Amino acid sequence: MDFKSTRDENNIVSPSMAILQGLAADGGLFVPVSFPKLEKDLGTLGKMSYQELAYEIMSAYLDDFTDEDLWACINGAYDEKFDDPKMAPVVEVGNVDHMELFHGKTIAFKDMALSILPYLMKTSAVMNKSDKDIVILTATSGDTGKAAMAGFADVPGTSIIVFYPKNGVSSIQERQMVTQSGENTHVVAIEGNFDSAQTKVKELFNDKALRKEMDQNGFQFSSANSMNIGRLLPQVVYYAWAYLREVEKGKVLAGETINFCVPTGNFGDILAGYYAKKMGVPIGKLICASNDNRVLYDFFRTGTYDRNRDFVLTISPSMDILISSNFERMLYHAADGNTEELKKLMGSLESEGSYTVTPEVMVNFSDFAAEYATEEETMDQIRKVFEETGYVMDPHTAVASRSYDKYVERTGDRSPCVIVSTASPYKFPEAVLKALGRLPEDITDDSLIDKLNAVSKVLIPRAIHELKDAPVRHDRVVPVDGMKEIVRNIILG
Ligand SMILES: *Cc1c(COP(=O)(O)O)cnc(C)c1O
Repeated sequence: MDFKSTRDENNIVSPSMAILQGLAADGGLFVPVSFPKLEKDLGTLGKMSYQELAYEIMSAYLDDFTDEDLWACINGAYDEKFDDPKMAPVVEVGNVDHMELFHGKTIAFKDMALSILPYLMKTSAVMNKSDKDIVILTATSGDTGKAAMAGFADVPGTSIIVFYPKNGVSSIQERQMVTQSGENTHVVAIEGNFDSAQTKVKELFNDKALRKEMDQNGFQFSSANSMNIGRLLPQVVYYAWAYLREVEKGKVLAGETINFCVPTGNFGDILAGYYAKKMGVPIGKLICASNDNRVLYDFFRTGTYDRNRDFVLTISPSMDILISSNFERMLYHAADGNTEELKKLMGSLESEGSYTVTPEVMVNFSDFAAEYATEEETMDQIRKVFEETGYVMDPHTAVASRSYDKYVERTGDRSPCVIVSTASPYKFPEAVLKALGRLPEDITDDSLIDKLNAVSKVLIPRAIHELKDAPVRHDRVVPVDGMKEIVRNIILG
């Protein structure tokens, strides 16, 4: 399956090249030239392990990988690093199921893809006889950075630089990053928000002089952000997985549709759900849940995407995003692959900060619904669900949970729905305990964690234990305008 750029229909590359490059050199994102269909029936797929299902789905796209190579990637990624052998357990919370995507090494859903991306990238480099060292540039809203570093730490032939917004991540998220080990990992805080970090990283990718300088010194940039198709494809797997679990539990008959409600920022997670639907997984609505940065909610209501608004810092920081990068892919699909139309819209986003799609294009968004939860509603939902069920959610999941309630209220659509649960509450103990009215007297990470443990009775994950005595290894802080220089310093010395 070849991939082509959203901004140039003649820029067509193999799967391994798409992964290696991360972003298309024309500024676009790679998308599959068509959607492959599931070859096996749901009964057969339902008997598969997570790994087998991953093979079934990813091999449909990565057809230049040999069977052995792809299996090596899958087996390297989905192993005991996950604290649940099912990888993505689907659990009952009251009368709605949650798919828990936080059982990987860094206890956020990013592990589902970032545990396999380094393997995919190394394999792609070998396949394309690339003799360059790969430099991964990554902007993070809190979770991608840690998960990407955990995957790439000490992988030969790679180095990774992570940029995070200094005041835009939770205390635990920050500690997870600044204590990261590995000689090839670099963490830089920036004086700016996630959007400015992501925009700058994209700019560095498209900086021809910088690319040339890197090339001459034996380096090549790639991306671990969900702009890389190698992030997106592994995420398609768990939508099929959750669907099959719902069939197994008798919640639906094979072939009947279910909905998913997805806490959304960069639109990577939910877009993978759309890909799953296009491949034939019986999915009804994909409910896009936003926090107070509700740029996507407003788009779905009005057809206008408008980032001209205040950037709000919320208790769900990994969704604090106004420029949702993967939305470009969805727009491209909705515009039936019309690159000229897409370029016009993206140009307008860059110059005006907004664009409006035609009613004809808007029709193609009918697979989606959209809701949002305010800060107050999010806190209230954490408390309410805990009181009703004893289940403690992280704030991102709570945004989805509340959004789902609002969706049902608004539409009356009671088809079975799976809430995509994207982080362990242990990543956000302060916000969660505050919501529950159980903040301890002294607010330190340690006391918060102990308290959360006492309240939730959920085992403290290994990722949290490991933080206890981990020394701080990274303390750089730079302005956004200093990002290019710091990249040159780190890589070229
Ligand atoms: C990244 C993240 C999200 C948002 O996912 P997107 O793919 O950016 O839409 C939601 N919740 C958590 C915990 C995350 O880390």
